[in-house]
Amino acid sequence: MSILDDMKMYARLAWGLWGFLRQTITLEEARAIVRRRMAERESNFLRLVERGIFGNPGSPYLPLLKLAGCELGDIQNMVQAKGLEETLRVLREGGVYVTFEEFKARTPIVRDGHVIPVQARDFDNPYLSHYYQAETGGTTGVRTRVAVDLDHLADDAPRRMLAYDAHGVLGVPTAIWLSVPPAGSGIGCILSNACLGHIPRKWFSPLTSRDLRASLKYRLLVEYVIAMGQLSGVSIPRPEPVGLDQAAAVARWAAETLEADGACVISSTASLAVRVCLAAREEGLSLTGAKFMVGGEPPTPAKVREIARTGARWIPHYFFGEVGLVGYGCVQPVDGNDIHLFKDALALIQCPRQVPGFEVTVDAFCFTTLLPTAPKLMVNVESDDYGLIENRSCGCPLESCGFTEHLRHIRSFCKLTGEGITLVGSEMVRILEEVLPARFGGSPLDYQLLEEEDEEGFTRLSLLVSPKVELEDKGKVIEAVLEALEQGSAAAKLTRAVWSQARTLRVKQMEPIPTARGKLMPLHLAQRSQSSTNASTEKIET
Ligand SMILES: [Zn+2]
Repeated sequence: MSILDDMKMYARLAWGLWGFLRQTITLEEARAIVRRRMAERESNFLRLVERGIFGNPGSPYLPLLKLAGCELGDIQNMVQAKGLEETLRVLREGGVYVTFEEFKARTPIVRDGHVIPVQARDFDNPYLSHYYQAETGGTTGVRTRVAVDLDHLADDAPRRMLAYDAHGVLGVPTAIWLSVPPAGSGIGCILSNACLGHIPRKWFSPLTSRDLRASLKYRLLVEYVIAMGQLSGVSIPRPEPVGLDQAAAVARWAAETLEADGACVISSTASLAVRVCLAAREEGLSLTGAKFMVGGEPPTPAKVREIARTGARWIPHYFFGEVGLVGYGCVQPVDGNDIHLFKDALALIQCPRQVPGFEVTVDAFCFTTLLPTAPKLMVNVESDDYGLIENRSCGCPLESCGFTEHLRHIRSFCKLTGEGITLVGSEMVRILEEVLPARFGGSPLDYQLLEEEDEEGFTRLSLLVSPKVELEDKGKVIEAVLEALEQGSAAAKLTRAVWSQARTLRVKQMEPIPTARGKLMPLHLAQRSQSSTNASTEKIET
């Protein structure tokens, strides 16, 4: 991005923030907007197809639709006759979909022998202006920046507000423990809460600009947003550095606020929430009445347990950088990650997908964006996530807004997560198969990355290196992985900073797990595979 582009971005941001921070919505307005969008899902989709695809000669969906022999009129008729989701299923079967790797432009789209070259920006919504940009939480091969724009944040506001209201947290004193830019989560959280007039009191940042080696542009961005807040009469908190080992500071804030106000909210990632709870228990603080709003990584049963032990409650949400807020936790959940799908802005179907390297087929989530303000235009884009879509009557306020589908057992099949940072498959596979054998010896078969959970519920990434490979210094292997990641993406600075603080990555000298041929083994597959290994060992012994 050139300096001129930066200046343009700041000018747009200034103009946008001025209106954005002064214009908050009311609960009644939020309800009305969601009701209208639910009624207009089909026409919103058709408008996006007409203008964003058929009216946009560079759209990567055009050649896919052409191969499927599908014209605009066909889609219009099909939506009218069969409804939106059924139309999307028919399109999916006709080859109109994009895999996650294709969407990230790490591989070209190939259908029926036709190769369609793509760049990540080809999927940008052509009608957007970008106010500020944030890196996604991933360390991906090709750098993909998500342009987070204020219109999109404002668009998330109505459903976010309904979720906050359903959980009784609207207006409750809030602290966030999320990093400063270039990590996008902190500033995005502040601004999306500002839309609701729900301004956090405290902004604790686990990483500082120095940890992140943030450029001047990002340092200025924070100052700029705070200054624009002051001009608009909105008091945006200044980030206070609170490292991963200082979680007690957040726990104390929560205990003091509970004492004074009777309730508090902490917005964070699942791992950071667990840190706060461990610190609270160490200091003998009760967090009864506190609510943790968490995203960024799957809330596993071990993490949920750790949080519940302090008396605090746990409200999960499902956020997908390129889409925004996909859903929020049910008020009457059946398990720790029971999410209402926000279908006012999205359509979601499932399609069978084999997990690379494993003999397992999963029902992958395919997303379609419906609103004209979505940063990326998606039609049946696979997200690397899968899970269960259920129609269940829970009786909670989110159901009465029309959000009747629940998402459960959401897992990633090609991603590993540590401390809220997502590692996407293809880049890591290259490191395991090429970079490490070239540097330390052995073959690609001698390296495997495994996601595990320790006793306290923290996710650790274990790099298994066969004992055949002689390692003098395990630390050098970790350094080599981080260096190789850093060449791939700017977000690697974030990964390096967080993982070295949290000691997320560790090297174990043991044979890669043979029952699975996959290079990357997510937690759920690791558990399945290890138990099947144990089972077969037991059989041999008896
Ligand atoms: Zn519910």
